[in-house]
Amino acid sequence: MQSSLQIKNLQLYRQGTLLLSLDEHIAGGEILTVMGPSGSGKSSLLNWLTGTLPNGFTATGEVWLNNKNVSHLPTHLRHIGVLYQDALLFSHLSVAGNIAFAMPKSDRKQRSEKIEQALAQVGLAGMGSRHPDNLSGGQQARVALLRTLLSEPKAILLDEPFSKLDTQLRVDTRQLVFEQIRTHKLPAIMVTHDNSDAEAANGKVIHLHL
Ligand code: ADP
Ligand code: MG
Repeated sequence: MQSSLQIKNLQLYRQGTLLLSLDEHIAGGEILTVMGPSGSGKSSLLNWLTGTLPNGFTATGEVWLNNKNVSHLPTHLRHIGVLYQDALLFSHLSVAGNIAFAMPKSDRKQRSEKIEQALAQVGLAGMGSRHPDNLSGGQQARVALLRTLLSEPKAILLDEPFSKLDTQLRVDTRQLVFEQIRTHKLPAIMVTHDNSDAEAANGKVIHLHL
């Protein structure tokens, strides 16, 4: 079955005032880019998708994942992965521990083999026992990516995930993230302020307004 993320007839309100309207279909492996000034509702859109809208916001419309309405499911049952601009790793856990934390429960040995393999794929072979604080920013970003991917999400949301990386690292990390999205055929939404991110995503771009 082809995976997909659908936003059906969303009207998102803040304190009763319309913030944005959207109706979008994103196929597996496609990246929808969302741009717009600060305060235009980009993060709120992602919060609505994951079921974490703060008080003060209301919405009508539905989220469908793989042809199933998930609008009324709690966050953890939606299986939507999010990557933020900060890696948000636990400093008291090892790299492998951070990744394992988000993985579906399974045989311990199987899990650590999967983690080891995944680390090697992103140039972090053998670094599972290191602690996040001892990694560079780019390495932390890759660990965060693996943590999200190995949680086996059905869709992935990127909230300015590359904005803290400098140019070359940004290009490399972006390429890795997009490659993984396409390989796993995950529908994705990326919030960004950067035109080169939008171009690299090579998909539809929408602009939100204040
Ligand atoms: P963006 O991510 O595009 O900068 P946000 O979605 O964070 O925009 O914010 C959209 C609007 O909602 C802004 O006017 C912001 O001030 C407001 N807002 C953000 N978070 C909250 C909240 N927890 N409660 C009430 N209003 C909020
Ligand atoms: Mg934001």
